[in-house]
Amino acid sequence: MRPTSSQEPTGPRLRPALEGIPSYRPGRPAAPGSVAYKLSSNENPYPPLPGVMEAATAAAASFNRYPDMMCSALLTALSERFSVPVTHLATGTGSVGIAQSLVQSTAGPGDEVMYAWRSFEAYPIITRIAGATPVEVPLTPGEEHDLDAMAEAVTGRTRLIFVCTPNNPTGTAIARPALERFLDRVPSDVLVVLDEAYREFVRDERVPDGLEIYRDRPNVCVLRTFSKAYGLAGLRVGFAAAHEPVAAALRKTAVPFGVSQIAQDAAIASLRGEEALLERVAALVAERSRVRSELLEQGWTVPPTEANFVWLRLGEDTEEFAAACSAAGAVVRPFPGEGARVTIGEREANDLFLKAAAGFRKGR
Ligand code: PMP
Repeated sequence: MRPTSSQEPTGPRLRPALEGIPSYRPGRPAAPGSVAYKLSSNENPYPPLPGVMEAATAAAASFNRYPDMMCSALLTALSERFSVPVTHLATGTGSVGIAQSLVQSTAGPGDEVMYAWRSFEAYPIITRIAGATPVEVPLTPGEEHDLDAMAEAVTGRTRLIFVCTPNNPTGTAIARPALERFLDRVPSDVLVVLDEAYREFVRDERVPDGLEIYRDRPNVCVLRTFSKAYGLAGLRVGFAAAHEPVAAALRKTAVPFGVSQIAQDAAIASLRGEEALLERVAALVAERSRVRSELLEQGWTVPPTEANFVWLRLGEDTEEFAAACSAAGAVVRPFPGEGARVTIGEREANDLFLKAAAGFRKGR
């Protein structure tokens, strides 16, 4: 019989490292029953293409079966589309799933994982879940990565560096010379992850394509996703390109069967329907220019953005601003005390947001 005493544990022993780790906070949905537009999660406002919907529906007919664990057909399609060898590719449960695998593959207690701050909010969470130490290097006053400071912050314990370009939530992207200079300074045993979740929205020609950069650099891994430009956020599928040891580690650490067959087939259909999807991206990029220009005219400071969102640094006014936007029918993403990130949506949604932003400025 188990002894009973006042020392009886009250539940399973959880790792102390989990204490104090903040939970991932998703962008707020519109209130139930409201007609507000959701501009809080950098989603694609367009519904699925008919061909993508057909592929997903066909795959759904056999969801009593496990998916292809190796994602073979998707890897072949990605390899052809991006001219990357299959052995350099890995898929995952969204690019955030791959990011988590990368941390788990490289870092544990005593190791450091570095990233700019503010950046994608999953980085500190997945770092601390692995028991590793986050090293956060502040953005420059212009809301860009401070790559010199990051290079200087590398220690003998640095195992992985996330470089988010374009950066979530500021939208700023890194030009080739600055990125190459930084990569030249990072020791070759430190993995640099170029998180290019928003790559398809980049129009600045000085910003390099990570898939060209990684080829000559065995310590670079490029992260891409089907969630943004391709509009499959709800299906959870992303991919990475890296040299073989890193790609192999990703395959080893991935959750088995983590990418559903529906997601795999929808991703393949999206690559086939890429032309139509990239036209939608172009329309969003045009809306991005319009939104930013209008905000600048209204008197806001808005960093140049290469992503599908804009960033307003509002400090203490952030939550009031977000509430005003919600009341006007546009739900944005507040980062309390810092600023608000506003996804570029359909024209009507952007108009509602712009009107709320103008009203907020006038009220100051
Ligand atoms: N990286 C960045 C920079 C992001 O903003 C996001 C999503 N917000 C992701 C990765 C993860 O996207 P997903 O897991 O849907 O691929």
